[in-house]
Amino acid sequence: MRRYSAFAIAREALRHHTGWERAWRSPEPKKRYNVIVIGAGGHGLATAYYLGKNYGIRDIAVLEKGWLGGGNTGRNTTIIRSNYLQDPSAAIYEKSRSLYETFSQDLNYNAMFSPRGVMMLAQTQHEIRGYQRTAHANVLQGVQTEFISPERVKEIVPIINVGGPRYPVLGALWQPRAGSARHDAIAWGYARACSGMGMDIIQKCEVTGVRSEGGVVTGVNTSKGDIDCEKLAIVVAGHSGHLAGMAGFRLPIESVALQALVSEPIKPCMDCVVMANTVHGYMSQSDKGEMVIGGGADGYNNYTQRGSFHHIEETIRALVETFPMISRLKMMRMWGGIVDMTGDRSPIISKTPLGNIFINCGWGTGGFKSIPGSGWAMAELVAKGEPGPLAAEFGLDRFKEGRFIDESVAAGVAH
Ligand SMILES: Cc1cc2nc3c(=O)[nH]c(=O)nc-3n(C[C@H](O)[C@H](O)[C@H](O)COP(=O)(O)OP(=O)(O)OC[C@H]3O[C@@H](n4cnc5c(N)ncnc54)[C@H](O)[C@@H]3O)c2cc1C
Repeated sequence: MRRYSAFAIAREALRHHTGWERAWRSPEPKKRYNVIVIGAGGHGLATAYYLGKNYGIRDIAVLEKGWLGGGNTGRNTTIIRSNYLQDPSAAIYEKSRSLYETFSQDLNYNAMFSPRGVMMLAQTQHEIRGYQRTAHANVLQGVQTEFISPERVKEIVPIINVGGPRYPVLGALWQPRAGSARHDAIAWGYARACSGMGMDIIQKCEVTGVRSEGGVVTGVNTSKGDIDCEKLAIVVAGHSGHLAGMAGFRLPIESVALQALVSEPIKPCMDCVVMANTVHGYMSQSDKGEMVIGGGADGYNNYTQRGSFHHIEETIRALVETFPMISRLKMMRMWGGIVDMTGDRSPIISKTPLGNIFINCGWGTGGFKSIPGSGWAMAELVAKGEPGPLAAEFGLDRFKEGRFIDESVAAGVAH
């Protein structure tokens, strides 16, 4: 795999860009692999990448029923932050955020990571107390956040109306090194690196069955034929319940659609991400100038991977008091993804009732930010057969034992 560089751009400019090679190969599946990863979203690809990079395991196929990055990874609003309340969450999200900082250099692929700062508005007394508590917890966890005043909020985000009649801004939890990145580039960067290490990324290959013998996985049935493997990693977000069903076990997961929309492009007006969790909405501005807007998840379980009109109205109505300028904007596009929600709003990175099958899911509305950290932790679990320190608390057994990692304040609407 040739490295991307300023020199390569100059060389290709001189020869009319005829020398670029494909970013990843599109091979047919082999009969057998050491590891099969189901799902070429960010988490699946990151798992494969860190298996190769950290453990030297390269006989890997990543199977994707659609196109890589076409699930939630290519549909999210790209917020990256690590200001979670509980210690295990802060550890994995902060690991992830720090890996994002060096992603472009590590993978030789421009992820457009922009640490522009993320602000979570406190618009009720309850939220003030909640975010002050999180800020204190973050100090102990080594995550850099602070609780800021309404005046400071206005200074950072001049377009905001801090004196709204229903929900005035009373302060905010501010994480200056949080931000956003280009979501497709994360999937593409990992895919290119995996392919460069000799792994097979097989698109349009749907897994239709999981085979096992004596309680241990032996392979999968797919739309491109049967493939054997020694280890299987299921990393399919909103389809996790379906895949677990194929393997013969159940998950404490609900799948719902989550939607987002973008406005027409306008001049730069907001250079950080603002989340307003009381009113259910959040907003940032893309590099193209569009206002990227998201709201809450659907109130009922479904697999509807598309937008719906009532969400536009609900989300804009929620945000318009705090951002009066959006009342004049035309909305251009909206879409949906199927997210996988657990009861405690924390992920699952776990062994399963079947030997050598591992599952990574439950990131719900907030798993873009965790892709590198999750891939790192999942690779350790798959390689060693036991979770390392980052994944130890996120096992399936916590639901049996009542050891919940309650992030219902930090997650949910707050992506
Ligand atoms: C509208 C929206 C906004 C969001 N905003 C944010 C945000 O701002 N910040 C944040 O951190 N998170 C956000 N998220 C959540 C985030 O996008 C997800 O948590 C994350 O992308 C999940 O990644 P993944 O790799 O697990 O899943 P996916 O990207 O969905 O990948 C799973 C893949 O598995 C494939 N698959 C499924 N079944 C099969 C099968 N049988 N065989 C083969 N392949 C299969 C799918 O086609 C899919 O490509 C948002 C999500 C949505 C929908």
